[in-house]
Amino acid sequence: MLHKETDIEDAKRFFHHSTSGLEGNPDGFGLLPDSSKVASVKETRIDKYTIPKKGLQNEHVYNLVKNELRLDGNPVLNLASFVNTFTDEFAQKLIDENLNKNLADNDEYPQLIQMNERCISMLAKLWQSDTDKDTALGCATTGSSEAIMLGGLAMKRQWEKKMKAANKSIEKPNIIMSSACQVALEKFARYFDVECRLVPVDTEHGFHLNPNKLWDYVNENTIGIFVILGTTYTGHLENIEQVGEVLDRIEAENTEWSNKNIPIHVDGASGGFIVPFAFTESQMSKYGLGRWGFSHPRVVSINTSGHKFGLTTPGLGWIVWKDDEYLLPELRFKLKYLGGIEETFNLNFSRPGFQVIHQYYNFLTLGQQGYYKKFNQSIFVARAFAWKLLEDPDMKGIFEVVSCLHENLENSAVADSLDDYWKQPHEYKPGIPLCAFKLSEKFKSEHPEIPQAIISTLLRQRGWIIPNYPLPESTDGSDKKEVLRVVFRIEMALDMALLLVRDIFEVVEKLIKSYEYLTVRADNDNHAIFKVLSTLSNASIEDLAPEPTESQKEKEKHVKKNYRGTC
Ligand SMILES: *Cc1c(COP(=O)(O)O)cnc(C)c1O
Repeated sequence: MLHKETDIEDAKRFFHHSTSGLEGNPDGFGLLPDSSKVASVKETRIDKYTIPKKGLQNEHVYNLVKNELRLDGNPVLNLASFVNTFTDEFAQKLIDENLNKNLADNDEYPQLIQMNERCISMLAKLWQSDTDKDTALGCATTGSSEAIMLGGLAMKRQWEKKMKAANKSIEKPNIIMSSACQVALEKFARYFDVECRLVPVDTEHGFHLNPNKLWDYVNENTIGIFVILGTTYTGHLENIEQVGEVLDRIEAENTEWSNKNIPIHVDGASGGFIVPFAFTESQMSKYGLGRWGFSHPRVVSINTSGHKFGLTTPGLGWIVWKDDEYLLPELRFKLKYLGGIEETFNLNFSRPGFQVIHQYYNFLTLGQQGYYKKFNQSIFVARAFAWKLLEDPDMKGIFEVVSCLHENLENSAVADSLDDYWKQPHEYKPGIPLCAFKLSEKFKSEHPEIPQAIISTLLRQRGWIIPNYPLPESTDGSDKKEVLRVVFRIEMALDMALLLVRDIFEVVEKLIKSYEYLTVRADNDNHAIFKVLSTLSNASIEDLAPEPTESQKEKEKHVKKNYRGTC
């Protein structure tokens, strides 16, 4: 979008705003110590949308930028995101020292490249690869999104090879994923001309892929299935074992297909780190997911986000293929390097190398036990939070929890006490450390005038950033329901989580009281009150507009809201 140059009044306001609260500046007023300087600001043509003719002093620009960024949220209180926000002192040092290394420059930085290779090997082993074979290959990417593009593309080429060998058309490839997918998965389909077959979720199957539905979606043109190990919406692990069983049956009934052994790519953006470190094998088996990685014959590739639970800074993802054979030669480029030949197969060429160093540092400093300890703590806090929402005498009956971490593996029951979660963590269901919850049906029927979204808005007053969003597209209307979601990253300690529960309780109490107050005055019109409160919570006055016309309603139907864009 092109923006016009701001005029001087705008610039004055901008500077006034940006410099108020400026620290450590000798004249105490940043760029505008007196009005005569305004002219010089005009001369240097300060404009937020045009590169100035003449540069400004670096210290001034530093203060200007720093102050403007104060308006951003506090990353630690951002409970909406999976992306890591903690870096220790020594990692920070390594980052500073290696900030300008390019991961694409193999000649110049051979040790960086070595560390990259070591990380890939570590990940392959972590993901149940056969250590005797040592055939895995992979690469660092900018995030899971780039990794997913590569995983999808490799499956597409494999499918084309099978179909060409049988003299069949390669015109209509499709890929299958549940509607609980993150936007990156749909992007793959759209960017690489593959039909995206979204399998809608339902309440009964925990808002993630129902493998039995695959019968309606798989055909000879299915290049593969994206199975999500930890959905962004509710943190559920989709069931790779069951998907495999259904594919076995489908293929057995269609022996004439040239497309055999339909592969699975596992989207382990969060689960790629959480599952192997946090849960025991027997816990995963009891959950029906003994094989979630390369030990499953259909799993050909897995991606993860180093910058989520790999605990690096933003800008790092990984993809690993189980075997060399799954990445066909036409997707690889050979480069001469130090007398040898090096292959490159990611989408980006130049990219920062320091995140790889940070990842390697994390693997060594934390080790398996360190990751376990951190994740076990986060999972406990997530379970404690859910437990409090459900069992605390003040909160009882207000919320339902949609995520499943707090449920017993055998009978889905909630623990008797918080202690049980700490003492027997492996008796409860695996998942991503988050809590997705919603107002209970009982509460909603008693208080139809309270929109759930306003809880999210009011919590912002206390600094908490907690999204409220609709569930993924479903077969049973559950996508009309909304959930609030809190991600428990490693910084979120138990006492913070309990403070949050308190704050949520106070918000709900305030809403009930406000409603009671209003009903006395507002003729008991629940719907009108709902509308007013909705408007406050959405920061938009559109809801108070007169009833929309039929054609407006029709248009709105096509504007789909979802939560796939989350990070
Ligand atoms: C975050 C996420 C992605 C996208 O990952 P980036 O690293 O942000 O590119 C894809 N899938 C799932 C399940 C995610 O949670």
